[in-house]
Amino acid sequence: MARVCPALGLFAEGPFVLDSGPYVQERDMPDTKPYELDAFMAGLEKRNPGQPEFHQAVREVAESLVPYLNQDENRVYRSARILERMCEPDRVISFRVCWQDDDHKVHINRGYRVQFNNSIGPYKGGLRFHPSVTQSVLKFLGFEQTFKNALTTLPMGGGKGGANFDPKGRSDAEVMRFCQAFMAELYRHIGYNTDIPAGDIGVGAREVSYMFGMYKKLTGEFTGTLTGKGLSFGGSLIRTEATGYGSTYFMQDMLETKGEAIEGKTILVSGSGNVAQYTVEKCNHLGGKVVTLSDSGGFIHDPDGIDEEKLAFIKELKNVRRGRIAEYTEKFGGTFHAKERPWAVPCDLAFPSATQNEISADDALTLVKNGVLGVSEGANMPTEIEGVHVFQAARVLYAPSKAANAGGVAVSGLEQSQNAMRISWSEDEVDRRLRDIMRDIHAQCVRHGQEPDGHVCYVTGANRAAFNKVAAAMLAYGVL
Ligand code: NDP
Repeated sequence: MARVCPALGLFAEGPFVLDSGPYVQERDMPDTKPYELDAFMAGLEKRNPGQPEFHQAVREVAESLVPYLNQDENRVYRSARILERMCEPDRVISFRVCWQDDDHKVHINRGYRVQFNNSIGPYKGGLRFHPSVTQSVLKFLGFEQTFKNALTTLPMGGGKGGANFDPKGRSDAEVMRFCQAFMAELYRHIGYNTDIPAGDIGVGAREVSYMFGMYKKLTGEFTGTLTGKGLSFGGSLIRTEATGYGSTYFMQDMLETKGEAIEGKTILVSGSGNVAQYTVEKCNHLGGKVVTLSDSGGFIHDPDGIDEEKLAFIKELKNVRRGRIAEYTEKFGGTFHAKERPWAVPCDLAFPSATQNEISADDALTLVKNGVLGVSEGANMPTEIEGVHVFQAARVLYAPSKAANAGGVAVSGLEQSQNAMRISWSEDEVDRRLRDIMRDIHAQCVRHGQEPDGHVCYVTGANRAAFNKVAAAMLAYGVL
């Protein structure tokens, strides 16, 4: 009887093994009807009502996977319903977080942890504190994280969490009390071998430290259960820089395929938090000129470029004083555009690095009209799906977030390795490993996303490469 090797997508006569797992025989593959994208999405939307961000993230993946899964040699995945299983989180934990502000007023927020998929390693993904946090947002982020983590080549599953808490305008003492109250519940669901959270929007070094301190107190254990820790208690060099640096490295690799470089390019960056700051820093190192940054109040445009001195001001403004981006123009000139995004400023390269859905189809058309060469997504899902289609049709070098911003979680993985070995690698060592991982992710995208005319669709490449890895593990485990 013919047997099917899901990992290789081949038919073979004799028995074979999939990694160390079982092999699948023809008779074990019932129900191999091809997928129909709209019907698949209609089912998902019905099962997950009122979760538009989650629907959007799944649609983007399904658009590239459905034609792939409909190929005859991939019917083993259809038969085992791997895609449907990947779209259902392992579990969603939701809990009450009660805390008191400095005036003793009681506040109630909702905390979550979405443990999406641990097929290739413990759940791993950040915590987001922002008023816009909902179950839909965290399911989209956890779903994406599963694919992203698979691309890093490290053994990490996907998860995400957070709360609808707004740290803006809160004192340090209030943020501390919130973080402690949040961890008072979360600690029972996480652990070094089960689930390892990190930072995300609204959760930086300060918040990770408060939460790690509380975790340590409650469990009596000093383990690497959170990443993004301070350097004196288990943090890794380059973790702070990793997402911004990684997204810039990915752009470098895409440009190299066209004989281009970052040097001399005019660059738009959105956001002004962790990812944006280190994107600017690395672009400056590589000779690019970044002319914009933004926050939720609007964007600044500095045609002279945001050099090291100006960037140092931004870091102090955002990380220490927690002020507004508009202050930049009072000190350095340029213009502030209230409640606007930077995408109409002419540029060669764009790095959306603030939040989801910050590039609409119209923004994408404007970028293309202005001749954008490359877009590397530092933020998660910053481009609306219609905008992605615009970039794809115009054959822009477009790196989706799951590939472009994987450097952050990759260095979190390296932080875990250092914690496990109780050693600290040098800055150069971690940066070299980050560079290698980004190069590897780029190569995976090329391998799985190259079209017959040589053009690389990085969306297809990232989705298929990550799917293959997670799907192979899920098949090997049997029906779970
Ligand atoms: P920060 O909290 O450090 O910064 C977020 C930035 O985005 C701030 O400038 C913030 O402005 C702006 N922003 C947030 N929400 C909105 C909004 N609704 N509209 C406009 N601007 C907004 O977060 P990070 O830099 O860590 O994260 C940025 C993005 O990168 C997120 O999508 C995150 O998921 C993603 N990411 C982060 C990683 C990391 O290692 N930190 C890893 C991988 C992805 P304001 O201060 O006004 O709110």
